[in-house]
Amino acid sequence: MTIKNKLRAGISFLFLLALISCGLSIYFLNRLSADARAILKDNYKTVQFTKNMGSVLELAQSAPLSQQQAAIFNDNLVKQEHNITEHGERQLTDSLRSKYEQLTLKRNSPANIMELHSDIKKLLYDIMQLNMNAIESKYATANATADHATMLVAFTGSILFLVAFSFVVNFPGYIANPIKELTERIKAVSNRDYHQELNFESNDEFGELATAFNNMTAKLNEYESSNLASILFEKKRIETIINSMHDAIIGLDEKSFIIFANEVACTLIGLPEQQLTGRYAPDIAMENDLLRNLLVNNQPKMKIYADNRESFYTKEVLAVTSKDKVVGSVIILKNITEYQQLDEAKTNFIATISHELKTPISSIKMSLKLLEDDRIGEVNSEQRQLLENIEEDARRLLQITGELLDMAQVETGKLQLNFGSTHPHNIVDYAVKALKTTAEQKQVTLNVECDETLPDVHADLDKTTWVLINLLSNAIKYSHEKSVVDLVVKKSKNNEIEFSVRDHGRGIDQRYLSRIFERYFKVPGATTEQTGTGLGLAIAKDFIEAQAGKIGVESEIGDGSRFYFTLKRIGNGALANAS
Ligand code: ADP
Repeated sequence: MTIKNKLRAGISFLFLLALISCGLSIYFLNRLSADARAILKDNYKTVQFTKNMGSVLELAQSAPLSQQQAAIFNDNLVKQEHNITEHGERQLTDSLRSKYEQLTLKRNSPANIMELHSDIKKLLYDIMQLNMNAIESKYATANATADHATMLVAFTGSILFLVAFSFVVNFPGYIANPIKELTERIKAVSNRDYHQELNFESNDEFGELATAFNNMTAKLNEYESSNLASILFEKKRIETIINSMHDAIIGLDEKSFIIFANEVACTLIGLPEQQLTGRYAPDIAMENDLLRNLLVNNQPKMKIYADNRESFYTKEVLAVTSKDKVVGSVIILKNITEYQQLDEAKTNFIATISHELKTPISSIKMSLKLLEDDRIGEVNSEQRQLLENIEEDARRLLQITGELLDMAQVETGKLQLNFGSTHPHNIVDYAVKALKTTAEQKQVTLNVECDETLPDVHADLDKTTWVLINLLSNAIKYSHEKSVVDLVVKKSKNNEIEFSVRDHGRGIDQRYLSRIFERYFKVPGATTEQTGTGLGLAIAKDFIEAQAGKIGVESEIGDGSRFYFTLKRIGNGALANAS
């Protein structure tokens, strides 16, 4: 039976019981009221009539009845004759009639009248007694009816109450329990636990619901297993790809637990995969140098000795995000040993060539100086011009080879710094002297601002002067003729000494600013006279950073550029930080 029909049947049954209970109450109330009416009509009135007739006799006091008394008596007697209800009442009333008739006769003697009075009184008493008995018996019957009614109504009421009570107790559970169970199962399903089954044995809507739910979870289970199988397959495939890579790859979750490490990573770290995955990376890092370096250091390039050989790697850390939230990271160590070896070979080659070129170029310069000397021989003006051109080219060649040599020195890690305490003024003087002629040729004014009260700096005088010359030479090179270049030395915010060179040339486009210190980078659009090797700023950066300083640039197109670098001052922890 469906729940709808069960509800209908239950409520109808309750309604029927209530109806029966009401019907019984009405029936018994009617019966009781009929009994009361019968007592009133049948017996109470007779008692009234006999009482009236008795009163008439009392008034007559054993004398013949007056006319009026006879009329009252007769009137009540007639009414009594029409209200005969009890067995034996008819005979008594007829006797009363006959005695009354005799009393109304005129020839009665007083003794006769007295006797008739007494007979009539007796008859009246009998009739009254008969009706009183009837009243009592009817009252008893009415009482019994009332008791019976009470019993019956109480009985049906109790049944009604019991049924209603069991309905109230059981029905909410009947509806709510399956819904509660269903809710719990749905919650489990929403937590991806699809092994859920509902066991409603009934044939109603709940039974149907259970079947539908069980079908759904079975399908979800099926889907999940097939999905899981494909996810596992994909996982296997990705693992195979990751393992076959020559780069070391380590995956961490957001709490720094290792999720995976490929074979190369395991070899480099020196631990099998089982001892890595699932473990807290900082714990392993306490005993493993490489992992500690990977987690703590920000060095982009590292040399690792593993598998009996030395290899070079670059480190890259990729943040894994999901819905704008970082859920982990992947550390990739790219094996660059091959490129590193090629790079080293290239650097060595450049160093050798530059070194080998320096001597012939210097001797060319020497020879040019000799040729220019009038003691060797006169040269005409065209020849002199040609000699000047060759000298300028030789100067540039020497500068280029010098820069290439410096670069090779930096790249091979052979950069030697000779630290000493020196006043910024000395660095500024050397640089300004070196570029005086160049500035004059272009009619560029060098404005120098370097307070004598500034403290000494802890620096390599040659390298720092080289940097300042480079910045000044660039500033002059990229300035318009007859413009001004400001060289300012002052204390920086973090109490270091800042050297800055400001020109009012064409400036540098914002998009190139971040690349300006890269090796061989040149801003596109420079004239042939301006352009150099693109190494000057890269070497300057290496020289300054090797002295624990910072180098930077600010520039606006059309407004010129400001290049600056900082050095540690003496008395500011510089000595401790240097070497
Ligand atoms: P280069 O030898 O070419 O001057 P640098 O490393 O010194 O190499 O400079 C790199 C590039 O930066 C230059 O090619 C030039 O385009 C740009 N540059 C450097 N200084 C300035 C400056 N003061 N104003 C404009 N551009 C500059």
